[in-house]
Amino acid sequence: MLQLDDVTLFVGKGDNITPLLADVRLSFPQGHFVAIIGPSGCGKSTLLKVIAGVAQGEEEGTISWNGRNLSEEDFSPSEIGYVPQFSIAHDDLTAMECVQYAMSLRVVAKPGVSPQEECRLILEKVRLHEAANRLVRVLSGGQKRRLALAMELVSSPAMLLADEVTSGLDPNSEDEIVRLLAKIAHEGNRLVLSVTHSLQNIEMYDSVVVLYQGVVAYHGPAEFLTHYFQVENPQKLYSQLGNQSAKSWEQSWQKHKDAFLESIRAIQDEDPVIENTEMVTFESTEDEAPVLEESFDIESEKSEENPKTLEVEAEEVEETDPNFASIPSAYSQFSTLFGRRLRIFFRNRMQLLLQLGLIFGFPLLVAVFAWNGLPQVKNLSMNLDLDVVHQLMEAKDFLVQASKIGSLVSGIVMFQVILLTLMGANNSGREIAAERLILEKEKLAGVRAASYVASKAAFLGILVFAQSIWMGLFIHFICQLPGELMMQLLLLLLANAAMTAICLGISSFMPTAEQASLVSIYLVGFQLPLSGAVLALPQWLGDIVRPFIAAYWSWSGVLQTLKGERYYDIIQTVAQTHLSPTPLCVWVLFLHVLVGLFIAWVGCQRTRWE
Ligand code: ADP
Repeated sequence: MLQLDDVTLFVGKGDNITPLLADVRLSFPQGHFVAIIGPSGCGKSTLLKVIAGVAQGEEEGTISWNGRNLSEEDFSPSEIGYVPQFSIAHDDLTAMECVQYAMSLRVVAKPGVSPQEECRLILEKVRLHEAANRLVRVLSGGQKRRLALAMELVSSPAMLLADEVTSGLDPNSEDEIVRLLAKIAHEGNRLVLSVTHSLQNIEMYDSVVVLYQGVVAYHGPAEFLTHYFQVENPQKLYSQLGNQSAKSWEQSWQKHKDAFLESIRAIQDEDPVIENTEMVTFESTEDEAPVLEESFDIESEKSEENPKTLEVEAEEVEETDPNFASIPSAYSQFSTLFGRRLRIFFRNRMQLLLQLGLIFGFPLLVAVFAWNGLPQVKNLSMNLDLDVVHQLMEAKDFLVQASKIGSLVSGIVMFQVILLTLMGANNSGREIAAERLILEKEKLAGVRAASYVASKAAFLGILVFAQSIWMGLFIHFICQLPGELMMQLLLLLLANAAMTAICLGISSFMPTAEQASLVSIYLVGFQLPLSGAVLALPQWLGDIVRPFIAAYWSWSGVLQTLKGERYYDIIQTVAQTHLSPTPLCVWVLFLHVLVGLFIAWVGCQRTRWE
């Protein structure tokens, strides 16, 4: 049984503090199908979020589930299914793949049971089996809702919270979904709470909660709704609510509910066709006389018994509570998430083409700038057998040439590094922010933030490797950039990895993918001027910002690999800032990668449903 006692939720701070829910008292037995209705903005979704434990704000009151106080002991992830308003499936996966991934992430496979077969049965249950191999992006609105339900059913949760799963559907699809929810509740002995703005199928629910401006105005059988509110049909309910203040509705309900429900029970006992005998267990308050007192006029004998049937049921439910399905290990979740990311990547042709374009196009861009200058690097010579005048002329020529080549080498290395940091920002800027709500949903279902971040790191690592190594090899061999190749490759790879990791961290904190992308691009934009490679920075500014500029460390490290070259001293003089030793550059870049991943992990741990 789920019981809410005086649940209140405040949002805002100081003078702007507002209650979104006030003193909500409700209780629901197992196997019950409940509609939560009320005008838009009355707090229906907020109530579901409070129950699911994902509401943001300050909560008061207690919520208990099968006798457990949820503020002390949270739901086990497999106990609760939450179908939010937004889509929780990736567009590039098929319906079957979505259910399979949901199952691998949430439930340990049972020995002797084929997960494939289980997923097929679930899809059949929600009547989506015929569309099992269709991509999510081509499913209709109704099919997407069914899929969302299927993805929740993989862990066979004892409670299912459904937020507006019928909104925007045609009447037929809406009927079907409501029927399906009723079946899920009754056949699986589940508590199903469904937020809906639609009053079309209201009689199919076992009970109806009417919320109005954050308070409970009614919780009882649908067939007595019109009587209680004195309206001809449920469609007139919302306009009737507007005729009284929220406080009046709440007080009226608190005052009359016990007698009202007892009367209903008495009527139902006489008429066995009506089966809704298990209703609320609210307590009356001593509040002032309600405004709607006259609306309550059901004539019936008062039952002598104290209507406590629900409490007995709650004990029974507790005893028969099943063992919760255990959650797969962190490694198992990591490999599922990694496999899913790779599949989505290879299925999205545009993304694939863009990546190939970047990997092969950017080194070409660098090569265009290097084309005329770099072949001279190898040919740079000074013949000292000549007479003094010629020697001086040669030396002058050498200095001029070396200076030009030094600038060119420094510029080309920086260009390479900047393009790699740009690829890094492009790799990960949107990665988490774009699927934030899916992540939140999956965290609620037991997915660990560490497994998630590790799967992103592994996937992005492949991109970083391909982009950086190809860039390094291409420039080294095609443009004949001198220096120690392996160290250059490592430094280029680390520059890309550092930016990828930092932008992944940014992505985990940003509210939208667009904002995350923008901030990541700005970060790349600052790399060049703040690196000091092109324009010298004031000493104090350089010392402050340099530790954070990945491009500087990579550029500086790569230039240090040219130490054996004759014109290295000239490179040092044309570089506008001092160069740091290669090992230090490697360590600083490595630290950037670790810090970026840590920020991403912290960002993913935070709850962000809005
Ligand atoms: P609905 O009944 O339509 O599902 P909601 O529960 O989504 O309504 O929202 C109830 C009210 O609370 C709305 O007016 C909404 O704007 C407001 N609200 C929801 N979440 C927040 C929040 N985090 N901070 C401030 N106001 C909020």
